[in-house]
Amino acid sequence: MTPLGVFGGTFDPIHYGHLRTAFEMLQALRFAHVHLIPCADPPHRGKTYAPAAERMRMVELAVAGEDGFVADDRELRRTGPSYTIDTLTELRGEFPQRALGLILGMDAFLGLHDWHRWDEILDVAHIVVAHRPGWKAPDIGPLGELIAEHGTHRVEDLHNEVHGRIHIHAVTQLEISSTEIRDLVAAGRDPRFLMPDAVRDEIYTSGCYSPGGEI
Ligand code: ATP
Repeated sequence: MTPLGVFGGTFDPIHYGHLRTAFEMLQALRFAHVHLIPCADPPHRGKTYAPAAERMRMVELAVAGEDGFVADDRELRRTGPSYTIDTLTELRGEFPQRALGLILGMDAFLGLHDWHRWDEILDVAHIVVAHRPGWKAPDIGPLGELIAEHGTHRVEDLHNEVHGRIHIHAVTQLEISSTEIRDLVAAGRDPRFLMPDAVRDEIYTSGCYSPGGEI
C-alpha cells in the first residue's frame, strides 16, 4: 500500500516553504497523501501566536481543493502536550498496513533527541528529512548513529517496509519562515506571495498577527 506522509508543525502561519516541501515529498516519494497536522500544544516551544483553531483554519484554506493533502486536526482533538509519537501511534492504529513517513525539516531533525519518546518513532514510522538551507546532516552523535543504522537512499525501501528507515531528501530551498511572516504583518507590511492568498486573507480577516486586525 502506498505510504502516507505526515507533516506536523506549529504552522503559525503555514507558508510556501511548508507547502512546497510537502508537495515535493508527495511527488518524489510517491506518497498517497500528506497529512498536514498543526501542533495544538507544542511541547518544545513557548506560546504560539495564533490559537490552534486559527492555525488549523489556515492549513485548511491552504490545501482546499488539493487532492494530495489532508488538513488533519487530530492534535486539536487531544488534550495535553501534542507529542508526535502519540500522533504516529494513532495513525498506525488507523492504517495498520501502510508505511508512514514523518516529514521533518533538517532543523527539526537535529532537535529530535529532545523529543518525548523519540527513540520509539522509528518503531512506528519512517523519518524523511528535508534539506533546509544552512543545515547539515549529522554524521556523529546519536543522530549520526541513527542515520548510519537506518539511513537509506532508496525510495523503494520506504514503500517495502512500513517503518524504521531514515531518508534524507533535498527539496527546493525556500527561505521563508513563519517568524518572518508574523514580523512583516506586525510591522504593517504585506506577506503576499509567501503563502496562498487565502491564508494571507485569513490573517487579515482574523487579525491574528496584528492586534488592530485588517490593514
Ligand atoms: P517559526 O518561524 O515560527 O519557527 P517555521 O517557519 O520554522 O516557524 P514550523 O511550523 O515551526 O515553521 O515548521 C514545521 C516544519 O516545517 C518543521 O519540520 C520545519 O523544519 C519545516 N519548515 C519550516 N520552514 C520551512 C521551509 N522554508 N522550507 C522547508 N521546511 C520548512
